[in-house]
Amino acid sequence: MRILIWLLIGYIGYRIVRGCLNAGEKPSALKTEAEGETFQDPVCGVYVSPEDATVGKLEGEKLYFCSVHCLEKYQERLNNK
Ligand SMILES: [Zn+2]
Repeated sequence: MRILIWLLIGYIGYRIVRGCLNAGEKPSALKTEAEGETFQDPVCGVYVSPEDATVGKLEGEKLYFCSVHCLEKYQERLNNK
């Protein structure tokens, strides 16, 4: 029973936090879009925002990837060259 109560509390807390985040996020998300602050994943070509991206520093250059998987792929390619 205790676990259920904690789950419920956690779920409610999560909803409240999500609600607050969504309320605060919308303007900044629009701003980000307007500023064009997205980076293209050099491996799969997907556009990612810096907050969601996996950042890789390769040869002093900052690169943004959609996932660690793509970052690893990119590193493999560099190593194979
Ligand atoms: Zn990717």
